[in-house]
Amino acid sequence: MCANLSGWYLQGRLTVNSAYNTSWYFGPNALALARKNMTYVSIRQEAHSANIAIVEAGLVVLTWGNASVADRQHGVIAIKPSGVSYSDLSPETMVIVSIETGEVVEGEHHPSSDTPTHLELYRAFPDVGAVVHTHSRYAVAFAQAKKPIQCQGTTHADNFRYDIPVTRSMTESEVSADYEAATGRVIAETFRERQLDPGEVPGVLVANHGPFAWGEDAQKAVENAIVLEEVSRMDLYTLTIKPDSGPAPQYLIDKHYLRKHGSGAYYGQTR
Ligand SMILES: [Zn+2]
Repeated sequence: MCANLSGWYLQGRLTVNSAYNTSWYFGPNALALARKNMTYVSIRQEAHSANIAIVEAGLVVLTWGNASVADRQHGVIAIKPSGVSYSDLSPETMVIVSIETGEVVEGEHHPSSDTPTHLELYRAFPDVGAVVHTHSRYAVAFAQAKKPIQCQGTTHADNFRYDIPVTRSMTESEVSADYEAATGRVIAETFRERQLDPGEVPGVLVANHGPFAWGEDAQKAVENAIVLEEVSRMDLYTLTIKPDSGPAPQYLIDKHYLRKHGSGAYYGQTR
């Protein structure tokens, strides 16, 4: 996974600034981590890459976004620190947190204030390896309208097999008690009650808030967050042109989803 992700990150960065990029992966940050006896190096690097990637993809304004990556074997995640600007992020500033207890295992900063939401998602969805949260504007527009992102075409179906749901509104007691953890529990409840597989629908809109997306690894979670935003924009345009346009036929959706996912997948290069 690490090799793939670094390849993905490197590919993207090399087109922009190859000198910066090579030093990022092999140079000062790796040395800084070793000097401080920091461990969980690969998830630190992947979480850092994912947090930078969502900014570069245009999904994040100011600090309205965060990404985390899990090491399931050791029961921890690496997540963006709270209140640190993106330009100051590095693998060593990522915070390592226990999935089970929520305690900081390693790190010099406080973890993102949204950490309890991420943790609830990792607990509820055992196959998820990375989580991305943004306030990307088209997805937020649907979240604020409390309207699901309907699967209207093949762009959506390539990554999401069904509509992207909206959670119920959170109650006053949920918001006042443990708001961030309750946000994660409401997402899990949405999938449980609607019998949705988080592998088939790797994202959600939290009512009056915004999108969360996830994936088996950081690269996939970032891709799903980008697709979620893009199909939100496409849906809005489609609804503007024709408000009752309706969903794409399920057989077309299934064709596109299943040719890329599952046992009969045939899209892309044979491995
Ligand atoms: Zn948020």
